[in-house]
Amino acid sequence: MDELMLDGNAVAGLLQEVFAVEMTTAIGTCGNCGATEAVGAIHVFRGAGIVLRCPHCDNTLVKIVKDGTRLWIGFPGVRTLEVAV
Ligand SMILES: [Zn+2]
Repeated sequence: MDELMLDGNAVAGLLQEVFAVEMTTAIGTCGNCGATEAVGAIHVFRGAGIVLRCPHCDNTLVKIVKDGTRLWIGFPGVRTLEVAV
């Protein structure tokens, strides 16, 4: 594992701000390998932005960039995201 890598729990607060539901238990399906994982188990890399990667195939699932007032979220590698409502 890369020393800068965290798990999905590291971005739980940020995701909850946006989606207004508990996100660590949301289930994401990877658009590349088809694996399903709770967001809390997804690999998180922090740099100039935040990148969430599939723990099975390393596919880029989500990209997040935040400045003081806005947030950009892209889902280039997520097939589906299942949340409890
Ligand atoms: Zn995958």
